[in-house]
Amino acid sequence: MAFVGGSHYLAGSGMKPRPRSEEWFARAQRCLVGGVNSPVRAFRAVGGTPFFVDRAEGCRVWDIDGHVYIDYVLTWGPAILGHAHPRVIRAVQEAAARGTSFGIPHPTEVQMAELIGRSLPSVQKLRLCNSGTEACMTAVRLARGFTKRDKLIKFAGCYHGHVDSLLVKAGSGALTFGYPDSAGIPVDFAHHTIVLPYNEIEPVRTTFATYRGEIAAVILEPVAGNAGLFLPKPGWLEFLRQITEKEGALLIFDEVMTGFRIGPGGAQERFGIRPDLTTLGKIIGGGLPVGAVGGRAEIMDLLAPLGPVYQAGTLSGNPLAMAAGIATLEELGAGSSGIESSAVYKRLEHLGARLELGLHEAARSAGVSIVFNRCGSMFGLYFTDQPIWNLEDAMRSDRERFKRFFHGMLEAGVYLAPSPFEAGFLSLAHTEAEIEATIRAAAEVMRKL
Ligand SMILES: *Cc1c(COP(=O)(O)O)cnc(C)c1O
Repeated sequence: MAFVGGSHYLAGSGMKPRPRSEEWFARAQRCLVGGVNSPVRAFRAVGGTPFFVDRAEGCRVWDIDGHVYIDYVLTWGPAILGHAHPRVIRAVQEAAARGTSFGIPHPTEVQMAELIGRSLPSVQKLRLCNSGTEACMTAVRLARGFTKRDKLIKFAGCYHGHVDSLLVKAGSGALTFGYPDSAGIPVDFAHHTIVLPYNEIEPVRTTFATYRGEIAAVILEPVAGNAGLFLPKPGWLEFLRQITEKEGALLIFDEVMTGFRIGPGGAQERFGIRPDLTTLGKIIGGGLPVGAVGGRAEIMDLLAPLGPVYQAGTLSGNPLAMAAGIATLEELGAGSSGIESSAVYKRLEHLGARLELGLHEAARSAGVSIVFNRCGSMFGLYFTDQPIWNLEDAMRSDRERFKRFFHGMLEAGVYLAPSPFEAGFLSLAHTEAEIEATIRAAAEVMRKL
């Protein structure tokens, strides 16, 4: 059997055979680009062949070759209740029986907007769409429409979907214009995007001074979860809030990942910052395609049909997505007294803390240096002895070691994201037993790194 890459750890270590996955991946590559519908799934960052899924339930996924894995990817974040949660499945089934899409206003999209508004007070009005990418695209268009300015500040390592003007990383100097990360994006589009290092104050100050009156918005992930995971330094978010307010620019929190993940009110509640606009996705769709942008009413009201900023969607506010999302948010205690909700997030925090402690112990006893950055139930694992505060730090971590660790864990029945630059997630379906099993597997694998 051909096994490409990542094999040095596995040589002779009893790798699980996956002939059916191999066969399906070969077939997939003939008709789907790279065999996948989203690039990271192709395992390029870690080598090897992705397994094909048969089904998922709770904190586990089963591949079509009969292996089972404890899942820390959780469909890239949404499955905070675990896969195939009975309440979510029931809600989707009931909704489907009434029609899968209407393209006509219906009550559940209103209920969703009300629920989000109660959880995130900064969201006075909302527009639902079908992905986080769409939400960020609309947020940027709104910010430009509202401020009548063109330039944007984003931060290296933050991902805001595959929007043309946001698919830009740092140029050579902090103040050079961005160059597109992707072919097919005119340099002119990216020209208005200024990319700065995460967690630094001076470059932001200098940029505002250089482009006085030209910057429409600062957009960021308030906890960066698309380059592993790094947290905002104390005071940094406060600084961004102050300078945007002073300079007449909008502050956009991309909470597609952090929304309902790191607390019932997302990062904005956790860190006590009120952004002008917020983007959401992932968890609010309960595993169905969804996105949302919301914020101050005077900004949101610029959207069509009330205002001149155009945005639309055939399937937006889709009843199945609304049903799955509402069931998920209610299960998390959203919109209720807050007592239920705090128990839910306490539980997630407890599981995260246990995993953190256990992995540190495993690494110490194996003599391996790791950084485990965590915010509640999301985490980033790096092989390095240096703290990670931005993309540059993350790039300096030992990615080869991560690859070996990834494959070792996969063989031990633990599925981590197939890239050192993705966050991991815990769900309410994970229990102490799975966390302990994961720690034991990690201790074993780390000894062989
Ligand atoms: C996943 C993600 C997006 C993009 O959402 P899609 O639904 O994949 O388009 C945007 N921003 C952040 C922070 C994300 O994690």
